[in-house]
Amino acid sequence: KKRIVVKVGTSSLIHPETGGLDLIKVERLVRELSDLHNQGRDVILVTSGAIGVGRKAAGLKEKPDRVSLKQACAAIGQARLMMIYQKFFAEYNQVAAQILMTRNTMLNQKNRRHAQDTFEELLELGAIPVVNANDSISTFEILHGDNDTLSAIVASLVEADLLILLSDIDGLYTDNPSLNPEAEFIPYVKELDGNLKSMGKDAVSGLGTGGMTTKLIAAELATSVGADMLIANGADMSVLHRIMDGQPYGTFFQ
Ligand code: ADP
Repeated sequence: KKRIVVKVGTSSLIHPETGGLDLIKVERLVRELSDLHNQGRDVILVTSGAIGVGRKAAGLKEKPDRVSLKQACAAIGQARLMMIYQKFFAEYNQVAAQILMTRNTMLNQKNRRHAQDTFEELLELGAIPVVNANDSISTFEILHGDNDTLSAIVASLVEADLLILLSDIDGLYTDNPSLNPEAEFIPYVKELDGNLKSMGKDAVSGLGTGGMTTKLIAAELATSVGADMLIANGADMSVLHRIMDGQPYGTFFQ
């Protein structure tokens, strides 16, 4: 696999107790990505977490209840989040680049082309694009669930070989395992039919937003443009190099 997009969900980046960024995990993630990059792969990171980081920085006790407050938190948090990624990537001799996507970048033909060209140039320069939705300007991602779909759109833009979604769960089950103990794990999906799609439910945890619903939409999009997709547990970031070593992890969509 030559070109890889890795998406980390809020649930993999934010400490459930403190609500702050889990720095150890972020550093491990950066280390893994740096290693993959040093091995000659093109690496793109799609990261959530800006709103959470901003909320913490602004000292808000409660989860923001209005869109405008979420957007303000995103503005504060994005700068901070990027500062931290920048610091860790620099420690491993990598050049990080920030790309903030809007709905327009994805849907408008001309803007899409521009975004595509920018990604190509960045990868050519050996940089690691760190992508997020531009949540302080566009409300699309805030209203449409995390970055799952965004990461699939990015995978399609850069013609990635593999999209990896790191979540707080091992992969896709026949039902939400936190509500249904009978739910069974699905390691491999060849055909994403309606029956399978109905298995993906929303998240019940307080941190994530998209749940499995948006991850299955992402899988449909990614596989339709020829990228494989994997949902794996980001609790231990070292799954990344183990996946690249060919070890079986998570749910694989082909
Ligand atoms: P992230 O922040 O990583 O995007 P989410 O919390 O949005 O994570 O999504 C993962 C959650 O989706 C799981 O923790 C689980 O509660 C929920 N979920 C719903 N349906 C399923 C399913 N069929 N299989 C696995 N997880 C599911």
